[in-house]
Amino acid sequence: MKKYTRVFAEIDLDAICFNMESMKRNLPQKTEMIGVVKADGYGHGSVPIAGAISPYVKGYAVATAQEALLLRRHGIEKPVLILGPVHESYYEELILHRIRPCVFTMKQAEALSRKAVSLGQTADFHLVVDTGMSRIGMEADEAGADLAVRICSLPGIRAEGLFTHFARADETDKIYAERQLGRYLYFVKLLGERGIEIPIRHCANSAGIIDLIGTGLDWVRAGISIYGLYPSDQVNKSRAELRPAMALKSFVTYVKDIEPGRQVSYGGTFEAKAPMRIATIPVGYGDGYPRNLSGRGFVLIQGQRVPILGRVCMDQMMVDVTGMGQVDTDTPVTLIGRDGAERIRVEDLAEWSGGFHYEIICDVGKRVPRVYLRAGQVVGTKDYFDDEYPKMR
Ligand SMILES: *Cc1c(COP(=O)(O)O)cnc(C)c1O
Repeated sequence: MKKYTRVFAEIDLDAICFNMESMKRNLPQKTEMIGVVKADGYGHGSVPIAGAISPYVKGYAVATAQEALLLRRHGIEKPVLILGPVHESYYEELILHRIRPCVFTMKQAEALSRKAVSLGQTADFHLVVDTGMSRIGMEADEAGADLAVRICSLPGIRAEGLFTHFARADETDKIYAERQLGRYLYFVKLLGERGIEIPIRHCANSAGIIDLIGTGLDWVRAGISIYGLYPSDQVNKSRAELRPAMALKSFVTYVKDIEPGRQVSYGGTFEAKAPMRIATIPVGYGDGYPRNLSGRGFVLIQGQRVPILGRVCMDQMMVDVTGMGQVDTDTPVTLIGRDGAERIRVEDLAEWSGGFHYEIICDVGKRVPRVYLRAGQVVGTKDYFDDEYPKMR
């Protein structure tokens, strides 16, 4: 296995399984989990994550047709649901791979129906109802229910599921999420009155799973919590213990002493007031490391928290190692994760940079290989640099 010497993201598959177990304990026996692996598994790698969580999930959810097809290409056979609108030009491929698109307009439904009929197949899809997010979905009212009736009467397609999405389930005050759940159940009732029973009903995201909103339906959709992060600081963390799965690690590439008055990095935003020893680290915003951590973030070296000096560059940054013992080329650096008693959480980076924890993990770049661990052993790697273009030379 290749040894990565610049930067890599370590993904602890045992933590992923621990998180699935933790969530499962919150759910009624009959409620199935769906693993949300959109955005390349929130930056963790959708295919290996889908494999790792397979024993715990009924199926997977992604955001785009390409993401769904990628899972199929890698031999993942459980149901895959696409949570966002998909262009009609993908419908044939989706039908052939038994990937469920979401549907909420007559135009989408008719296109899917036409394609299914022409292929001589039945296409399963999930209806989306808008209960307060105002993003996608039919209205949760009589007109919406009438639209659902017309959609469900089309040939060649079958509404396998009905879902909505909570906008504020991660807040202390659950009144908004409860109101959305109420609207969802009202819509289910309206459909029932029109003779439509949709087999699979699902509302809950990670916040719902942790704080028990919408978990009594058929499925729940676990996203951020798979990866060991809480959706927010306001959920009841004691209800589901989670372990962050991703660590971001690098190595010092250069160490030098500088005199007072020396400026560090672009714009000279840091100037040494005294003699200092600084280390260069080969990670920057080109790796998805937030530039907003310039002069604000920290990394761990030899179990110590050391500050970033001046601006984070595209590919490198400098940190203060003054007064530390033996820091040299190849000394390990932890940007996310533990080193000794110290720890930097994804949430810390979000706070220091004024960013959002979901975004930090999604943004870990293609230049950063992912290394998968089980019981501390490397069991696989995902390297984004193995493309081949033999016909383009
Ligand atoms: C992303 C997404 C989820 C997962 O949300 P988390 O907060 O990560 O659990 C669930 N449902 C829908 C529709 C989504 O878009």
